[in-house]
Amino acid sequence: MNLILLGPPGAGKGTQAKRLEDIYGIVQLSTGDMLRAEVGSGSDLGKQAKGIMESGGLVPDDLIINMISGRIDQDDCKNGFILDGFPRTVPQADALGAMLSDKGLKIDYVIAIEADSDAVVTRITGRYTCSSCGAGYHDEFQKPEQDGVCDKCGSTDFTRRADDNAETVRNRLAAYEEQTAPIIAYYGEKGTLKTVDGMADIDVVTAKLKELIG
Ligand code: AMP
Repeated sequence: MNLILLGPPGAGKGTQAKRLEDIYGIVQLSTGDMLRAEVGSGSDLGKQAKGIMESGGLVPDDLIINMISGRIDQDDCKNGFILDGFPRTVPQADALGAMLSDKGLKIDYVIAIEADSDAVVTRITGRYTCSSCGAGYHDEFQKPEQDGVCDKCGSTDFTRRADDNAETVRNRLAAYEEQTAPIIAYYGEKGTLKTVDGMADIDVVTAKLKELIG
């Protein structure tokens, strides 16, 4: 089973994708995570993407399409995958359709997680993760039980994404409205789109996704 999760930054795509990975035994493919790994490794792609990501813009379509095509070919995608953060432009959506049909694959569900922009700014600017196990926290909504200590692994080392500051978030939301939101209509016209309310509690959103996927 192959899914696309759509929605603005901070809608909860990553959080829900991780839960769906466990529930359905399929793999989360986050183009943002892949690009951050490229930036971290100092690869050519990482060097090209770094400044664009820091400003909140979108990395050129051809670079992204090549990256995701190679990733889908890997063994762990055999049972299926959840696209998180891709496609993000109409040309990416077109390229995905062509790429999957070449590979003899298809998308089973396209689900848009809806969230309002004021709420996503608060969600994004307050979020951070444990550097050791990746558990997610929030300054306001999800503090660790003991201040500064990860609930899951006990680490005291946490990180915030470089692009989770207020100014970059505004640019990321503008990029979403201009370039990504049109994809919702794109899949709507194809008749494959479903929506969930991303403002609901995390568990409620997961339950709704399970209901839609069946
Ligand atoms: P994300 O982790 O999905 O919020 O992505 C972080 C950043 O990576 C975005 O603000 C973009 O600069 C870049 N990025 C991630 N996915 C894509 C994509 N599909 N197309 C273009 N740029 C992307």
